[in-house]
Parts: sequence; C-alpha cells; structure tokens
Amino acid sequence: MEQLTNELSEISFGEQIGFRKAEEGFATKAIHVGQEPELWNCRAVVPLISLATTYKQFAPAQHAGFEYSRSGNPTRSVLETCLASLDNGKYALTFASGLGAQTAIISTLKTGDVIITGDDVYGGTNRLFRNLAVNMGMEVIFVDMTDVSNLEKAMKDNVKLVWLETPTNPSMKVIDIQKISDFVHKNSEAFVVVDNTFLSAYFQRPLELGADVVAYSLTKYMNGHADVVMGSIATSNEKIYERLKFYQNAAGIVPSPFDCYLVNRSLKTLSLRMERHFKTGMAIAKYLEAHEKVEKVLHPALKSHPQYETTLKQTYGHSGVFSFYLRDANLEKSTKFLQSLKIFMIAESLGGFESLVELPSIMTHASVPEDQRKELGINDGLIRVSVGLEDAKDLIADFDDAFKQI
Ligand code: PLP
Repeated sequence: MEQLTNELSEISFGEQIGFRKAEEGFATKAIHVGQEPELWNCRAVVPLISLATTYKQFAPAQHAGFEYSRSGNPTRSVLETCLASLDNGKYALTFASGLGAQTAIISTLKTGDVIITGDDVYGGTNRLFRNLAVNMGMEVIFVDMTDVSNLEKAMKDNVKLVWLETPTNPSMKVIDIQKISDFVHKNSEAFVVVDNTFLSAYFQRPLELGADVVAYSLTKYMNGHADVVMGSIATSNEKIYERLKFYQNAAGIVPSPFDCYLVNRSLKTLSLRMERHFKTGMAIAKYLEAHEKVEKVLHPALKSHPQYETTLKQTYGHSGVFSFYLRDANLEKSTKFLQSLKIFMIAESLGGFESLVELPSIMTHASVPEDQRKELGINDGLIRVSVGLEDAKDLIADFDDAFKQI
C-alpha cells in the first residue's frame, strides 16, 4: 500500500517551478463534500435544476426512481407532471424540440402505415411528413379537415395516425376536434394527435375533446419567453405513453434540465400571458379589419371567421397569433410594409412576449410545395402576426405608421 501510494504521488508542475505542494485530497473533497444526494431535500419553493447525469443507487440496480439522466431527470419530471395536469392528461413527455416530439410520434408507426394530416400544418410538420415519414415507407395524405366528409373520402385500411393542427398555420382554419376524433375512433384503429401549439393548454384542451394525444412546440406560448426550443406530448392512453417514453430514451431526443427549469417557470404565468395576448390580439385584429389597406383578417375569434361557432364551442379564447392579407399586395409591397414596422420585428416563430411579423410564403412555409401553398392561399400578401405583451396602443400606432409607407 505504502509503495503504491509513493508511486502515485506526483511532483506537480507548481512544485517543479518552486511553489508549495498543493493540498492532498483536494480533488476528492471538491468532488464529494456537500454533494451527498441524500441532502437534497431542502423544501425549496422553486424546484431545483438537477444537472446530474447519473444517480447514486442503494445497491446494484436498486435506485430511487432515477438512474441516468437521459432516461429520467428530476427537473424534467417536475415539468412533465405539470404539463400532464395542464391538459388534464395522465402522462406527459418532453423532447428536444416540437419536431422532436413529432418525430417520436411517427416513429411509433411502421412501413405501410398511412398518416392522414390536415393540409394546412406548420411547414416543418409538412416537411417531416413528406420526407421522413415517406422515407420510412409510410403513406401521407393531406386533407382539408374543416369538413369531416373530406376525411371520410380519404379513409382507407391501414390509417394509423390522424394529425391535425387547429387553428391551422397560417390560414387560421378551425377544425372540430370532437367531430374528427369521434369519426376516426368509430371507423379505424388510428389515434388522433392535435398540435395545440397555437392556443396552449390554457385556451384549448384537445384530450377533453376526444383526441388521443396533444402535441406542443413548447418553444411558443407554453414557454413564451423566446429562449427555449422544446416539444412535448400529453396523453391519457397508457399504451401510447409507454411507446413514446421508450422512444424518448431509446432515441435520446431529450431536453436539457436547465431548459426544463425555464419552461416550468414560464408555465406559472401562462394564464396571465394568454389573457393579455388574446385581448391585445383582438384589438389589433379589429383595427386591421377596419383598415382600407387590408383585404381580409383571418382571426378565429372575429365574427367574420367562417368557423367562429366551432371556435366558441371548443376553445376558451384565442392567442395573439393571426394572419391578414394586405390589399393589392406583391412581394415588394409586403416587404416594404414589414420593414416599416418599428416595434413588430420580422422573425419566424410566435408566442413570445415580443411582437413578431412574418411572410409565410418565403419564411415559415417556404418548404411547402408551391402548388400546395397556392391552394392554401399562402401568397405574398399574407402576413402572419404574433402579438406580444407590449401596450396595445403602441402596437396599433406601429401598424398605423407602417400603412402610411405603402
Ligand atoms: N408546431 C407548430 C404549430 C409550430 O409552429 C412549430 C414551429 O414553429 C412546430 C410545431 C415545431 O416546433 P419546434 O420549432 O419547437 O421544433
């Protein structure tokens, strides 16, 4: 033992150049003192950020619920538990992005399975289905789901997933979740997934309307501070949950504990933020609807919206995102208008505290094939707005000034 100890004691670089010998055992102390896992039960009112990648076990394969941070992490569990409760579901899982959550969902399917999806979904979802899902040997059918008879016509054997986004992006079509879910469950074994990113669990809860899974880009309203990219699912179906949980660990597309902490914190103000987004967004939508340089406003909570009644039936309000057509617009005019705005920033994404505008035809929906864009009315005059939490009067004045420039 003594011989071994002598062999291991090195002369440090400092000693070699005349410094005193560093304290022995320093590294061991730095690694272990005050870090005992048993101590971390401090009754803090804010859940701790647990960055540990692994967890001390009582005996081999006997652990206290966590063994390795990809498989399970305490901060992530805190968030997932909260997310499940907001959607009144039994389970929730988080992923490294909204598209990561969607990848997990399509990975539960196999070659030969058929996906029916709304025709007007987020550009990245469209790209995921058209490329990844098709490459995995699945068939993908795009359908306008505002009329359930379109879904009926598209139904065939092997439909395993029906995917919808409501309100749709960027056309703001509203789809009757209960009607679609009832139809799918009566006529197939498929499960229904609703991407609820645009409204958040505060304004719409698809599981209560018959959907099997609700999916989110938490990057948007649920986090709301434009500083985290993350996705999630919630469900009460144990079988689906187990398959997705297996995938979360097996594929490893998990979010970081720090990001989980941030989203969990943001959920504390979700209801307040959503109320304000709704109120300010409505004021701006009404202002735009009355403006001579605006051809049409697409906002589900306006009485002029074609699915206004469905909106009232299935939601508790609307967020700050909506679209409008500039009158007689082309790319040049829309660009000039957007560049004239001073508070609204030209940027992709939505749902944060900051107001954003974008041109879906060449930004978020550029990856949607041109003929499909044409069919959906995504032209160079269509502007999508994400109304933030600034003062409504300032935002309206910003639009007013920009209109004077075109
Ligand atoms: N779903 C919707 C409706 C979205 O708008 C987005 C992104 O913009 C996504 C999913 C993808 O989410 P993420 O960017 O977090 O991967």
